[in-house]
Amino acid sequence: PLVANQIAAGEVVERPASVVKELLENAIDAKADRIQIDIERGGTRLIRVTDNGEGISRDELELALARHATSKIEHSDDLKAIYTLGFRGEALASISSVAKLKLSSRPQAQEMGWSAIAEGLDMQVKLQPQSLPAGTIVEVRDLFFNTPARQKFLRAERTEFVHIEETVKRIALGSPHVAITLRHNSKVIKRVPAAHNHEQHQQRIGSILGASFLREAIKLDSAVESTRLYGWLSPVDWHQSSSLGQYVFVNGRAVRDRTLNHAIRQAYHDRLPAGRMPAYVLYLELEATQVDVNVHPTKHEVRFSNGRQVHDFMSRMVEEALLEQSD
Ligand code: ADP
Ligand code: MG
Repeated sequence: PLVANQIAAGEVVERPASVVKELLENAIDAKADRIQIDIERGGTRLIRVTDNGEGISRDELELALARHATSKIEHSDDLKAIYTLGFRGEALASISSVAKLKLSSRPQAQEMGWSAIAEGLDMQVKLQPQSLPAGTIVEVRDLFFNTPARQKFLRAERTEFVHIEETVKRIALGSPHVAITLRHNSKVIKRVPAAHNHEQHQQRIGSILGASFLREAIKLDSAVESTRLYGWLSPVDWHQSSSLGQYVFVNGRAVRDRTLNHAIRQAYHDRLPAGRMPAYVLYLELEATQVDVNVHPTKHEVRFSNGRQVHDFMSRMVEEALLEQSD
């Protein structure tokens, strides 16, 4: 199983930031509202994610580390409407095949916590009791220690940490109800409190993307039937960069989608000076059955059951918000 897992790991674990992404998604799926991330040496030495979510019972720990074991999908029918960020049951198995992974957890109702490590070629799981607060701690040490070919592709500590920061930013934007602390080499780098309303949400975006994003931001919130679009658009000259500052979340998941990006650009059309890109943080919510997230292992891509309609909705809503603003 080790080799099979290492091959699968290639798809989800490209660098430390991909580990951070998977662990944060798990914490959010476990309904945590407080997450602490500790990084050492750009994540090559240590990635530790501590959450206050539902936890994993002693009996389920071994399963959590097994490949293709997920507690999130019970029937193949469930794949038609996915409400969680994870669903493939691959991340922990993949990560533990290319790093030293320790999974420790205590569900609220369980008195004692337990930790699990998978070791050796057969990935035998060893369980140990441990006193813990309710929630889960995942520790990933020495990433790629047993896959030198991948280790070679790791960049400088600082570069890897920049990727981690970008990942944390994206997830912090996508899950505004979660308080997040990020530390690097024991120093607090970012601390964002949970947002419980639009105003706090907007402040939070400012603290993540910089206050200038908010100064002239246009707020948007509109719905047609069960499809809702809300968020903030920045003035067109806010940002000269081409790829930073464009965030779209579909049902809480960060996506990179050509259709949606096109819809937004189209809405801006002649308001956009040459070479300029709008910056935005937009949340699109639609029925889970209307969107297929099972397109790629990293889950950055989605497919809409009615792409044209989503495109036009998005474009119209953004355009209306821009028009209202210029009146
Ligand atoms: P997936 O997220 O696709 O289900 P993972 O390999 O990421 O697969 O995780 C495997 C399982 O371990 C999850 O289905 C979940 O039951 C459990 N798990 C992982 N991380 C956590 C966490 N932070 N809190 C609670 N349960 C977790
Ligand atoms: Mg997962």
